[in-house]
Amino acid sequence: MADDFCEVMLLPSTQCDHCRSAQSKLPQRVYVTRGGSVYHRTPHCEGLKDGQRYARWKGHDVHDIESVPRSDVRARLGACEICRPDTPPPPATGRPF
Ligand SMILES: [Zn+2]
Ligand SMILES: [Zn+2]
Repeated sequence: MADDFCEVMLLPSTQCDHCRSAQSKLPQRVYVTRGGSVYHRTPHCEGLKDGQRYARWKGHDVHDIESVPRSDVRARLGACEICRPDTPPPPATGRPF
């Protein structure tokens, strides 16, 4: 995929140490609900809860949260914009804010 090119190092991501270590920090398993269109980093994501609240409010069935391998869903679902399961956590700076 084109987005596997590192724009910082101008290398394919597979050859960029930074990207490879970032990839390894991404969650191996993510959380989805049946019928959901995005996947989540954590089952406690507000977006996930909102989706369930919305389904309940609309009178739809509320599906259980399932944990699935990220590689299974990343081709067909989007990443949640709240918990950002496709973005590695920022590197620790070692100093508290
Ligand atoms: Zn990179
Ligand atoms: Zn989420």
